[in-house]
Amino acid sequence: MNIGTNIIEIHQLLSFVIPCYNEEEVIMETVKRLKGFCLELQNLNVELIFVDDGSHDRTREILKTFAADDHRIRIIGFARNFGHQIAVTAGIDAANGDAVVLIDADLQDPPEVVHQMIEKWREGFDVVYGTRTERLGESAFKLATARSFYRLLTRLSDVPIPLDSGDFRLISRHVVDILRAMPECDRFVRGMVSWAGFRQISLPYTRAERFAGKSKYPLTKMLRFAVDGIISFSTKPLQMAVAMGMSCAFLAVLGIFYALYLRLFTNIWVEGWTALMIAILFIGGVQLISVGILGEYIGRIYIESKNRPLYIVQEYFGYGEIGPAMSRSPDVFRKS
Ligand code: UDP
Ligand code: MG
Repeated sequence: MNIGTNIIEIHQLLSFVIPCYNEEEVIMETVKRLKGFCLELQNLNVELIFVDDGSHDRTREILKTFAADDHRIRIIGFARNFGHQIAVTAGIDAANGDAVVLIDADLQDPPEVVHQMIEKWREGFDVVYGTRTERLGESAFKLATARSFYRLLTRLSDVPIPLDSGDFRLISRHVVDILRAMPECDRFVRGMVSWAGFRQISLPYTRAERFAGKSKYPLTKMLRFAVDGIISFSTKPLQMAVAMGMSCAFLAVLGIFYALYLRLFTNIWVEGWTALMIAILFIGGVQLISVGILGEYIGRIYIESKNRPLYIVQEYFGYGEIGPAMSRSPDVFRKS
């Protein structure tokens, strides 16, 4: 008797995590592009996790209409705007995939590059991060500030964080598990991925122009992000405060010798008001900067010590029976 064997091929699952904040102008196109891209994937199942970071426009509504007739689309709806890095974190937490691709909603990161990321992943790499060789449609100011930020960060950070790479990357299940085990509130995801280690490789790509809509990172938010990145990955600013203090003390000693010399060996006296004011302002500035640097660290200790959940999910949509792999939100049961 010939016993037939049923070979069931089990495909791996790839999760896309797409943070969205007020992206109604672009979101339809993004869903279409990603769905089109999924058709090209062989031997891979896909889930598209859109994290709606408390949008005030129709983003969530539009996503829901897509999710209603595509079981691969899932929506994590935040109760308010928690910020890009937290949205990415929630997506990584919820992903059920064997690998996760982080990609922006504005189509600046071309989905087509993911083909090469998957190839590298299959070769055994755990992290394939996109490195921007060119950035189209960005202002000269943004280009210059981004460039300096990445260079400053690499200099200051205790962990080697790759130059010119954002969050567009593929990460394997191993790294996903590590990120899930990291409880900190101050999340600089690309730095955390570098910190995790494993086999990481860069993939050069050209960053496209935003498809539509405006950047959600105005200068103030960008500066905050830069400070977050530096402070959460380095204690060097504290050492810099000490160095500034030492330099001031050194200058003061020189001043003392200079004043003594004039007083003892010449008939000239150091003039009072100007020298005094400059010294007071200088020392005052250095002290305030040092206290400010200290404050940045203490503020973070304060926030961490409150131990609040990282994000609050108002609803999980499109999850059906599967459910999110993990959630840090207190209300994990509301899913549809
Ligand atoms: N984003 C978000 N929450 C925010 C700000 C931005 O989820 O508070 C998303 C946004 O929808 C986009 C991605 O993060 O998908 C990157 O933002 P953006 O394109 O505005 O940044 P830029 O590319 O200009 O640096
Ligand atoms: Mg963008």
